[in-house]
Amino acid sequence: MNKEKYYISTAIAYTSAKPHLGNTYEIVLADAIARYKRLRGFDVYFQTGTDEHGEKIENKAKEANVTPQEYVDNIASEIKKIWDVMNTSYDKFVRTTNKEHERVVQDIFKKFYDQGDIYKGEYEGLYCTPCESFWTESQLVDGKCPDCGGEVHITREEAYFFKMSKYSKWLEDYIESHPDFIDPEPRKNEIMNNFIKPGLKDLCVSRTSFKWGIPVTFDDKHVIYVWIDALSNYITFLGYEVNSDSSEEFKKYWPADLHLIGKDILRFHTIYWPIMLHALGVELPKKVFGHPWLLFAEDKMSKSKGNIVYADDLVEKYGVDAVRYYLLHEIPFASDGNFTTELLENSINGNLANNYGNLVNRTVAMVNKYFDGVVNNPNVTEEVDKSLIESLTNLPKIVDEKMNTYHVSDALEAIFETLRLCNKYIDDTMPWALAKDDTKKDRLATVLYNLLDAIRICTILLSAFLPETSEKVFKELNTKKTSYDDISCGNMEVGNSVGQAEVLFARI
Ligand SMILES: [Zn+2]
Repeated sequence: MNKEKYYISTAIAYTSAKPHLGNTYEIVLADAIARYKRLRGFDVYFQTGTDEHGEKIENKAKEANVTPQEYVDNIASEIKKIWDVMNTSYDKFVRTTNKEHERVVQDIFKKFYDQGDIYKGEYEGLYCTPCESFWTESQLVDGKCPDCGGEVHITREEAYFFKMSKYSKWLEDYIESHPDFIDPEPRKNEIMNNFIKPGLKDLCVSRTSFKWGIPVTFDDKHVIYVWIDALSNYITFLGYEVNSDSSEEFKKYWPADLHLIGKDILRFHTIYWPIMLHALGVELPKKVFGHPWLLFAEDKMSKSKGNIVYADDLVEKYGVDAVRYYLLHEIPFASDGNFTTELLENSINGNLANNYGNLVNRTVAMVNKYFDGVVNNPNVTEEVDKSLIESLTNLPKIVDEKMNTYHVSDALEAIFETLRLCNKYIDDTMPWALAKDDTKKDRLATVLYNLLDAIRICTILLSAFLPETSEKVFKELNTKKTSYDDISCGNMEVGNSVGQAEVLFARI
């Protein structure tokens, strides 16, 4: 049977500096979605990578006294290392200095030029060098760059422009007739009202002021500016071709099901990118989701504020799943999340150690203590079992609904709510009291079976979020019923022996 395909991408990370914890959120979020889709039987293609051209990199390389290529090689490998430390399951890590990518980007640029979408003009604007962005007067905040707060200066240069204006109406109609294209809703309204409805300005798509970029083939004093270069990664690395047949991989996976990006670059992905694709005659991605940010003690993480936290440092101290849990759980669907060490430690103690870890530990220890570790289900049920089984039966549906609408934090919370219910079930059934009464032995075995089965079901779902811990728990339970097909109640094997109780998450 052919599995349904699912293509998810993150934005490509800019190789100007090592990414901080806030920049790491996106890859972890994408990973949870990708793992969940695989769990659900999809044929997933998960792409991430690095954006490696531009003036900022040229300057940084000069400062570091290395070539731009050496500079980006170094940072790209650091980024990849962090993605790996976070245990993310991407299928392809792409880099825009790849020669094939560069060739296809040149073909795309040439096609736009030949069909009249790109023309040569002169650019004059307010330019922020660190952000490599031109701004209009009205976009400035207190006369400064709205992204970094730095100085802007008037710059004039010969440049190629893309006729975005020509496609304003088409894009407006497209977004209105595809209500699922942009998420979340408030961001969509911002894009529509602030940028599209007033009419799009033509976009400057080349530069002559620096060299570190992909040259325009027919005018080599120009390099292709970031938008066409970086955005094209989503199709070039799948084997898209302008002048010949695209690859089978492209035909299979495109259009992307989800471009997951930060809310700050939503504009580029929901205006320039759709128009570029439309001009190429290529289908649009199904959804662009602009996720919120992770703030540091309610402030934006930045080098200049000196409040940067790196994911790999936290992983070393707290373990990868503790950091993954925090990122996935503490940043809601549409509003910014917050990070402090204290919040992280509270979350580890409260949710991971006291709830999930304690449940697994207590249950496995009791099976060992009362039944020499052997799992048995004499099926002596009582009224109190009903609500536990009911919530376990509903849980996969709830999680599916949340994950399909990318409410990842809510999905995770639903699982942890069920784990809390399991802990309450222990308090209600009091296995230690049952153990004192020989006539209650079968009831005790049933209670412990229900708990093991509940842990198993929750852990199947958690494998998308906490892959390392899930492996440990399955091993401790000694169960092979770990696929989504096994998710219904009562599938825990009997007759097996569980392992020894281990501490999954140490209290801090
Ligand atoms: Zn700036």
